[in-house]
Amino acid sequence: MSGPRAERDLLEQLATIRERALLEIHGARTMAELDDVRREVVGRAGALLEVRRSIGALEAKDRKQIGVALGKAEVQEALAVREQELLDSEPALATPLDVTLPAPVVGVGGLHPTIQLMYDLNDAFAALNFEVYEGPEISSELFEFDYMNFPPDHPARDSMDTFWLEGCLDKAGAGRLCLRPHLTGASVRYMREHPPPFRFVYPGRVYRNESTDARHERAFFQYEVLIVDEDVPFTSGKFLVDTILDTVFGRPVPTRMRTGFFPFVEPGFEIDMMCQVCTGKGCRTCRQVGWIEVMPGGCPHPNVLRAGGLDPDRWTGFYVNVGLDRLVMMRYGIDDVRLMHSADLRFLGQFA
Ligand SMILES: [Zn+2]
Repeated sequence: MSGPRAERDLLEQLATIRERALLEIHGARTMAELDDVRREVVGRAGALLEVRRSIGALEAKDRKQIGVALGKAEVQEALAVREQELLDSEPALATPLDVTLPAPVVGVGGLHPTIQLMYDLNDAFAALNFEVYEGPEISSELFEFDYMNFPPDHPARDSMDTFWLEGCLDKAGAGRLCLRPHLTGASVRYMREHPPPFRFVYPGRVYRNESTDARHERAFFQYEVLIVDEDVPFTSGKFLVDTILDTVFGRPVPTRMRTGFFPFVEPGFEIDMMCQVCTGKGCRTCRQVGWIEVMPGGCPHPNVLRAGGLDPDRWTGFYVNVGLDRLVMMRYGIDDVRLMHSADLRFLGQFA
């Protein structure tokens, strides 16, 4: 298409489009209607664009003349003016924020159930005048095994059970560093820094070099309680156990003690609680016995007290050590310990 004829046709076409556009712009009563006009006339598939494509085929001098006649600027200005008029006439549109609208939901995090239980226990023991103590996660053979009365050939000293730090394997005692395999080593640190009598709890993560399954993890939380005084009757041990279980389950839970052997206690106990799934009748969770082993405990071995600088003829005490993740699992009926540290938000969201 070229020549005066084509040019005339185009100018007519443009005039029609412009007139119609200006009429519709002035007639628009809402922002939505105005947006419709904008789309039809100047949008990506609008009428003005259509005409502009035809101009490309014209001679250069015609193009210039038609370009001026196109009047896009005029249409744009009319759109802007009408938009302002509408904004001024509709207060709701002029107000950028409507405070009466419901606020968007903001997701918030929550405490991990193990940490929550740790805090609950800290509170329960703080009410009984127990201090909360924290030892280092990197410890040594001296504190974790030698002071804990483990014999030199005990299998727990093996790298199959304990994570020894690189460069320490040929060393022994204080120079042989490891990730702490239990919390109990920290009790000797505490004894060396604090004169007895004392009572304290020490929560924390411990590490074992073993394969994982539904009941075992390489890193898990323990909670240890130690009371040291000149006369600590067994009933105080039972009281510590009851305090823990009452906090976890929110009600008294029957327990029983059996003799158990651990190098750092003498005498040592295995503490069982009545299965809370079947209340002692026998089920799969308790392997039909009605009782579940929950924690070891006992009186600190004389060698442990000596390592802490305490005279075993004068001082005695009671340890209780419980697997915190395991208690959380019993509290909520969780059957796989690996879920606890999976960082799976679908799992964690249930406790937030
Ligand atoms: Zn049971």
